[in-house]
Amino acid sequence: MRVYMDNGATTRVTEPVMAAMQPYFCEIFGNPSSVHGFGREARKAVEAARGQVAKALGAQPREIYFTGCGTEADNWALRGAAYANIKKGRHIITTNFEHHAILHTCQQLEKEGFEVTYLPVDSEGLVTPEQLEAAIRPDTVLVSIMYANNEIGTIEPIPELAAVAKKHGVLFHTDAVQAIGHVEIDVQAQGIDLLSLSGHKFHAPKGIGALYIRQGVRIQRLMQGGAQERGQRPGTENLAGIVGLGKAIELATEDIPGKVAKMTAIRDHMIARIMDEIPYVKLNGHPTKRMCGNVNLSFYFIESESVLLHLDLRGIAASSGSACTSGSLDPSHVLLAIGVSHEHANGSLRLSLCEENTLEEADYVVDSLKEIVERLRDMSPLYSDFLKGVETVGTEEEACHI
Ligand code: PLP
Repeated sequence: MRVYMDNGATTRVTEPVMAAMQPYFCEIFGNPSSVHGFGREARKAVEAARGQVAKALGAQPREIYFTGCGTEADNWALRGAAYANIKKGRHIITTNFEHHAILHTCQQLEKEGFEVTYLPVDSEGLVTPEQLEAAIRPDTVLVSIMYANNEIGTIEPIPELAAVAKKHGVLFHTDAVQAIGHVEIDVQAQGIDLLSLSGHKFHAPKGIGALYIRQGVRIQRLMQGGAQERGQRPGTENLAGIVGLGKAIELATEDIPGKVAKMTAIRDHMIARIMDEIPYVKLNGHPTKRMCGNVNLSFYFIESESVLLHLDLRGIAASSGSACTSGSLDPSHVLLAIGVSHEHANGSLRLSLCEENTLEEADYVVDSLKEIVERLRDMSPLYSDFLKGVETVGTEEEACHI
């Protein structure tokens, strides 16, 4: 059996999305900026996709700008808003557990003379409106808080946070890369000024994203070049990718409550079985305010890299942190931010489901995990020390309560 449970890293392009894109390689291939018929056909497809994205977010088509990926949308939102508002101030607020597309951009802005406040999240990954209220200053120009965390799946109270920013006349950006299709988003009703998304997290291809910019919000552009995207994002449009993004977001947001109910049932079945059947394991993140497809666990006394390898041998794809950081030996900054120790962060595993995963697959993964964790613990000196009563990773009393 082959099971893909790494949908937080990327998703497969589904058949209807592929079918929608197919004509836009060999048949309809014009440059959307060309005035001839070939170009006009391509332009029509780009604008139809813009409409699909806008509809899915409760936005106007003219508020949607296509980008090369989620990272570009994040960079653009932050740098664009920071530099456009420099006369008002140079203070930005974010959290300490954002994706690196946000954190590294903030660090770069700090080097360029901006000041950034990193709000700490609590042990379940939540940041509160009160924390935000207390951090806002007269020179604050932008707040950027992710909709849902990519590693532990915690969903932030975005409408409440956006309301605080609005009260103080501060722009509110959210990185919704992981949230699209799993959470109901309405930029108007939720008071969002800027929102980043990325197609490959909801069954569109890699290399296409978008930034929503509320009408009237001025941000600087990142790149210089042609007049594409109403002069805001130069570069010939990724025609097929844009068509795929439009179709994928339409499908992803068709029946969110139905999808969430189905995925939550499978997720909770997995979590319940793992907590019942595998000792010394902790669920990272919030028990309920979490993405319907996210399971993040710390297995004590073993390294997640070994678990991943054994899962892979059984045809199961999972991850030990965000794909972008795996390969680095540093423990995940997200897990450290919620207070997980270095040891337990190194034993953490993320299983991220999509609506295509089944209960049968979930049971296969849990059965495999049980065997793998047991075998690895049998070989673990930490575990044998622990069994002998030697204090290694926390006390036995602590471990028994996790
Ligand atoms: N933001 C979040 C929360 C993500 O999970 C990711 C990708 O994993 C990104 C941004 C970056 O998106 P992209 O891979 O399209 O650059």
